[in-house]
Amino acid sequence: MEKVLKNCTVIDTENKRYLTRDIYIDALSVISKISAPETINHQNYEIIDCEGSYVLPGLINAHSHLFSSGKPMSASFGEGTINFGYRLLKTTIGQSILRKIMDKHAQIQLQSGTTTIRSVGEFFYQDVKLREIYAKDEKIGPSLLVSGFFLSITGGHGAPYLALESDSPWEGRKNVRKSIKQGVDWIKICATGGVTDARRIGEAGALQFTEEEITAICEEAHKVGVKVAAHVESTEGVRISLRGGVDTIEHGAPMDEEIIQLYNHNPKSLRGYTSLIPTFQAGAPFAFLAKEESGLNEIAYQNGKMVYEHSIESARQAIENDIAIGMGNDASMKFVTHYDFWRELAHFVDHANLSTWHALDIATRQNAKIIGVDHVVGSIEVGKKADIIVLSENPVEDIKALTKISKVFKNGKLVQRKKVRKYPELDQLLDKILK
Ligand SMILES: [Zn+2]
Repeated sequence: MEKVLKNCTVIDTENKRYLTRDIYIDALSVISKISAPETINHQNYEIIDCEGSYVLPGLINAHSHLFSSGKPMSASFGEGTINFGYRLLKTTIGQSILRKIMDKHAQIQLQSGTTTIRSVGEFFYQDVKLREIYAKDEKIGPSLLVSGFFLSITGGHGAPYLALESDSPWEGRKNVRKSIKQGVDWIKICATGGVTDARRIGEAGALQFTEEEITAICEEAHKVGVKVAAHVESTEGVRISLRGGVDTIEHGAPMDEEIIQLYNHNPKSLRGYTSLIPTFQAGAPFAFLAKEESGLNEIAYQNGKMVYEHSIESARQAIENDIAIGMGNDASMKFVTHYDFWRELAHFVDHANLSTWHALDIATRQNAKIIGVDHVVGSIEVGKKADIIVLSENPVEDIKALTKISKVFKNGKLVQRKKVRKYPELDQLLDKILK
């Protein structure tokens, strides 16, 4: 049956205004009409009275993973245990357990208002499987755009467990073909080292792929219309990734003139420009918390701090230079749970000096454009899918109102509310980072 959400205070982030509207959703879950409140024939519609509550398009998390809860673990595991765990995951039973875990995390994000997730790095293409389960309506879930395994160099970031390894342009092309055959939407490469598996200070931004290899990977992916996301944590890494033609830079690093130009006009990228997606939530705990609080070792602490400083600097430069900027929180990484994407917006407001209007616009409309789904979601407009969240308080006044979501509609369907298990100790620690 068709639905109407009556008396909504729609937050129009593009034009920075509030609109009192009724939103009509047709039987195909598409927004069919938006009007000023009017008397309607009740028999033809299921009426949901929002009583003036604030309404936004569903949030989009443009950089996430689903394989882990994000809760820091007190124990660290040796090589042998990790190897054993990996072999277990590889089995059919292991993969179905993994899919259940990923589903649980995706559901938490949905409960928290995220209706679309771009997942950039998972094991065994279980992200492709999960995307299909949700897409076929076998189960309600967020829309997923997925990349499967990372593409990395031998021994590079995420390798060997989370990455397909390659050491030449042609091997890189082959791994692109492998992932595309599995049905990915994006290719994720690791152009530099990362924090999670760094063995020395400075490894996080150290170059791994060469420009030649990145160029080959991008060409191969672009040939079939697939875009490339690059994990990059140093200026030189950003430079060769942009020159190679990647479509999004994840995390980011300080820019010089050449880099600014290449972001805004990148002839080798699929759309002619490249976007930046900083992930503050993943880096900030390293930079702001004392080692005793975060429990990090010196290598992780130093690398994480550097990555955070790089990403905040590059985000500020992106905003100054009109570079397309998106938002993702790197959920599953240490300290980044699936229920607190609101913190990423808060970081943009508190530390990158954005207005709440602007942060909300990035998390919806601009993210949709960057990940390539703006024709279907990202705003409340006739013809778009009814991915809608209803809030009891106004997030423009306080971004933390995003934790007070009263209703989530996914494809026009009301998502059944479930209690999300939180980690109060972690939340208290993270609260210290925000103003
Ligand atoms: Zn990530």
